Amino acid sequence: MTSQGWDKEDEVSRSLREASCSCGQLRIEVQGEPGGVGVCHCLACQRRTGSVFAALAGFAAPYKVTGTATEYVRAGDQGSRFRFRFCPVCGTNLFHTEEGHEQSFVSVAVGGFADPSFPAPEDSVYDCRRHSWVQLPPGIKAYDKDPT
Ligand SMILES: [Zn+2]
Ligand SMILES: [Zn+2]
Repeated sequence: MTSQGWDKEDEVSRSLREASCSCGQLRIEVQGEPGGVGVCHCLACQRRTGSVFAALAGFAAPYKVTGTATEYVRAGDQGSRFRFRFCPVCGTNLFHTEEGHEQSFVSVAVGGFADPSFPAPEDSVYDCRRHSWVQLPPGIKAYDKDPT
């Protein structure tokens, strides 16, 4: 699938992270530290993930995808169109891009990294939809909706 601006020679010199779906056929490799980590409590993310909130990490390109993904496009409240990629075998929602920004940025499901030491979220959006029992970590910025 996509392999945007990936430079083989950079691979050894930068920190790489790989996220994969539950069955392992769909993978995405990203470089460096996430540009932002957040949780989203919106009802679409609750349905999309099957969980009560989504945890997402944004990474700047380049990124490398291997395996087969099925796509689902959903328009956000502000009119942006998000292209979600999920594994057609096991159904894991692994990453998404915003239409028009595929070349520069990707959002990856934090759970896909299966790394309990992954950086904690800094932002919490759609706090108005947060389940009452979900407690946010100290210092996190909470927004009633999506501030962007
Ligand atoms: Zn899978
Ligand atoms: Zn959401």
